[in-house]
Formats: sequence, structure tokens, C-alpha cells
Amino acid sequence: MAHGQNKVALVTGGSRGIGAAIARRLAADGFTVAVNYATNPDAAHVVVQEIEAAGGQAFAVAADVADAGGVAGMFADIAARGSEVGVLVNNAGVMELAPIAKMDAATFDRMVAINLKGTFNTLQEAARRMGEGGRIINTSTSVTQLKLPAYGAYAATKAAVEVLTSILARELRGRNITVNAVAPGPTATELFFKGKSDALIANITKLAPLERLGTPDDIASVVSFLAGPDGAWINGQTLFANGGAI
Ligand code: NAP
Repeated sequence: MAHGQNKVALVTGGSRGIGAAIARRLAADGFTVAVNYATNPDAAHVVVQEIEAAGGQAFAVAADVADAGGVAGMFADIAARGSEVGVLVNNAGVMELAPIAKMDAATFDRMVAINLKGTFNTLQEAARRMGEGGRIINTSTSVTQLKLPAYGAYAATKAAVEVLTSILARELRGRNITVNAVAPGPTATELFFKGKSDALIANITKLAPLERLGTPDDIASVVSFLAGPDGAWINGQTLFANGGAI
């Protein structure tokens, strides 16, 4: 147990991929972790069991982040346990790729609903409820700088998250709450591998001078830093974590 002091860290999309690694890491740091999921309770419960088996504390919480009422209910449920969200990690996200000319409207709307409005929904609850010393960590993507073709709609939702990050940091002036974003580069998860050929994956793997994909644990380390005492002076920033790809 290091720096969590037993506050609740809520990790949206904590059931799989990067979110699951963040949940495990923050639990190891000493936080009680609320593992949020939307559709996959079994995966969330596996993460909770892994944390408990390692001596940490966690519980699963269902909510579709795109649903403002569901998000309000999730925060209310956590409060009803007598806990306060001391760390909010907005990790839940979806990525669908298509050139702007070919992107269909329903897919665009879904990415906006989950990545942008979903982040907005939890930020709004946190802005209303979070106490002194809170930490908020959003998730962008290095594609906001790499600007790769076919990533337009997805990157636009994440660029908006970067803007929300800096503005909320300023709105919370005087409350000793930091708001930052982490912008991973290509990271080995289901979201990254879906629909990509082996050749494309090999190319993307070489993007960074470190010549590998990021791992969920690479990103969890950055989140742990921002959530812990060593990250206290970082505020309103987007930290790009991509092995030097940009
Ligand atoms: P992933 O493996 O597909 O996992 C996505 C997680 O988000 C799952 O736990 C999923 O929960 C949850 N989720 C999806 N829609 C949700 C909703 N409406 N409400 C609540 N939870 C929801 O994705 P990942 O690669 O770990 O990505 C995590 C974050 O990092 C995303 O924001 C993504 O944009 C960002 N990112 C990823 C990469 C990369 O290369 N992997 C790079 C840059 C940024 P269920 O299991 O319940 O569906």
C-alpha cells in the first residue's frame, strides 16, 4: 500500500484493456477501486477478483457513461456506500475508424456519446461532488497530434476531451483538485487490434523510436503518477505517452 489512503478511485471502462490495468495499479497504490463497466459484468468481476486476490479492495459498478442518469446513479451509489470518489479516471471509450467521406452518422454519434458526452457526464458529477485533494484523469489519444487518416471522428472526440480537461482544471480553482489527461499512443488492447491486418500492426508498432506497442501497464503507470503525490503539481495538462511516436 503506497499512496491511496483508501479513497475510492472510480475507473470508467475498468473491466478490460487499459482500464483494467489502471484499476489493478490504483488498487496496488492503496485506493479502493470502483471498476465501472457498461456491458460486460463478468470481465469487471474478474478484475475485482484479481485485485482482491492481490490484497486490494475493489467493487464493480455498472453504468453506460453516455447515459447521464446512469452516471449520476453510479456516483450516488458510491456515496451511499459512505465513500467519496477521490480519483476519477475517465478511461471508457470506443474507436471506429473510417475516412471522413465514409464515416456513417450513427457511428459518429456513438463515439461522441461515449467518448465526449460520456466524459462530460462524469466530469459534471465530479465537479459537483469531489472534495479537496481530488484527482481527475481523462483519456485522450496521441492521434490528436499524429492526425492519421481515418481517425478524424475518433480524434475529434478526444481533442474535445483535452479541451474539457484544461477548462475544468481552471473552473475548479481553489478546490485543490487537479484535472489532467493521458494521451496514449498505440497500446496493445482489443480496441487497438480490432480490424487491423498483421502488416498494419507491424507498421504501427515501428512508429515509436522504442519500436514496440504500448502496454496497458505503461499507461497505468502514468495514471498512477497523476493520481499520486508525485503528480500533485501537474494540472490542466495532457501527457502524451507513446514511446516517442510524436
Ligand atoms: P478496450 O480494450 O476496448 O476497453 C474499453 C473499455 O471501455 C471496456 O472496459 C468497456 O466496458 C468500456 N466501455 C466502452 N463503452 C462504455 C460505456 N458506454 N460506458 C462505460 N464503459 C464503456 O479499450 P482500450 O484500448 O483499453 O481503451 C481505453 C481508453 O484508451 C479509451 O478511451 C481509448 O480511446 C483510449 N486509447 C486507447 C488506445 C489504444 O491503442 N488501445 C490509444 C489511445 C487511447 P465493457 O467491457 O463493459 O464494454
